Amino acid sequence: MTEFIRFHRPSIGDEEINEVVDTLRSGWLTSGPRVARFEQEFSKQVGARHALAVNSASAALHLALAGLKIGQGDEVITTPMTFCATVQAILHVGATPVLADIGADGNIDPEQIKKRITKRTKAIIPVHLAGLPCEMKVIWPLARLRGIHVIEDAAHAAGAHYEGRPIGAGPVGVATASDAVAFSFYATKNLTTGEGGMVTTHRPGFAKSLRMLSLHGTSHDAWDRYSEHGDWHYDVLAHGFKYNLSDIQAAIGIHQLRKLEQFIERRAFYANVYHDAFAGMDQVELPPDNPRCRHAWHLYILRLNLERLKIDREEFIRALQRKGIGTSVHFIPIPLHRFFAQLPLARDACPRALDLYPRIVSMPLYPAMTEEQVHYVTHCVRAVLEHSRRARFLALGHSCSDSARRV
Ligand SMILES: *Cc1c(COP(=O)(O)O)cnc(C)c1O
Repeated sequence: MTEFIRFHRPSIGDEEINEVVDTLRSGWLTSGPRVARFEQEFSKQVGARHALAVNSASAALHLALAGLKIGQGDEVITTPMTFCATVQAILHVGATPVLADIGADGNIDPEQIKKRITKRTKAIIPVHLAGLPCEMKVIWPLARLRGIHVIEDAAHAAGAHYEGRPIGAGPVGVATASDAVAFSFYATKNLTTGEGGMVTTHRPGFAKSLRMLSLHGTSHDAWDRYSEHGDWHYDVLAHGFKYNLSDIQAAIGIHQLRKLEQFIERRAFYANVYHDAFAGMDQVELPPDNPRCRHAWHLYILRLNLERLKIDREEFIRALQRKGIGTSVHFIPIPLHRFFAQLPLARDACPRALDLYPRIVSMPLYPAMTEEQVHYVTHCVRAVLEHSRRARFLALGHSCSDSARRV
C-alpha cells in the first residue's frame, strides 16, 4: 500500500464542481436561489417543515439558543462527549453549560439528564455521537413535561434515522419534537459544503425569527429584496448575527444532499467490514449500534480493551500511522480542556466519559475510501492488536503485584 490512508477525504464529484462554476458565472454569490433550493430539498429529505442554511453548525446552535431567548442565569444540559462548539454556543448566549454523563452507547444518558435538571434548566442539547441517535423518545417527554427546550446537535447525523424517521423529522405528531435540529456541513462531515450548516424546525414562527436573526436581525434577506421587492429598504428588528450560507456553498450542498443516501450506504457497508474483522477480538469492543435506528456512521469509534493490550491508545495510533493509516479521537471530554476546566461545570462529574476517553480511536471511514483500503485497515488493526496482546499470565501477574503493593 503506497498511498497514505488519510483519516478523511471528502467525496466531491463533477456535479458539485460544475454547479460551483455555474454559480460563479451566474452573478449571484451570496444567499440566493441555490440556498433557497438547498433549504427546500434538505427540509424535504429530513422531514422538517423549515430549514435555514447557515455557515456552520456552531452558528446553528448559537442561533437556536438565542432564538429561544436562552441567556444569563439559564442552564443548558449537554454531554461531555462532544466537540467544543456545543459548549461554546451555550456560553455565547451567556447561559451556563451543565454536563450530564454518557451511557454505554456513548450518548448522553437520559437518567443523568434527570439528575442535572434544576429550576434554571431551559434546554437540553443531545448530541448524536458518531451518527448514532440518542434515545429521543425518553428525552422528548422528559423535557416537555418540564417545559424544557430540546435542540439536537445533529452535526454527525445527517442521514441518520431514529425509529424509522430521519433525524430532523421528530416523532409522529410534532408537538413533542425538538425545537431545533443543528446539522454541520464541515469538510469532514457526512455531507459537506466545505463549511456550512443547517438548522431545521417544525415551528413556522420560530423559523422566521431564526432567519431574521441569521441576517443581522434585518427584515428581509438580499435575495428577497432583489426578487420580490427590488427595493433598498430594510429595518433592523433584533440583535442579530451574520450567519447565512453563500450560494457558492449551497451549490456544493445541493449535490452532496442528492448523494447522501449513497454515502450512508457505503459508510454502513464499510462499518460492517470493520465489524466482521474486529468482532472476534477481545482486545477491542465494537462501536455501539441500535437496531431501532439507522446509524449514519459518521465515525467508527473503536474501543480498546486496554487491560488486554501491552500498548496504550497513543502507541496504537502511532503503530497505524507507521503503516500509513490516519486515525483520530472523538472526543476529548469537555472538562479536560483548559478553558472549560476553569468553569463551574468542571465540578460536574462525568466519570463514564473520562473512563471511556483513553480507550477510543476513530478509524478512517468515508465513501471516498476504496474497499481495498478498508480491508488494508482491518488487516493492519488486527496485526497491531495481535502483536500487542497482553498474555493472560502477565495480566494476572500484574494484578497480583498490585494487590501485593496494597498490602
Ligand atoms: C463538527 C461539530 C460541530 C460544529 O460544526 P461546525 O459546522 O464546524 O460549526 C458541532 N458539534 C459536533 C458534535 C461536531 O462534531
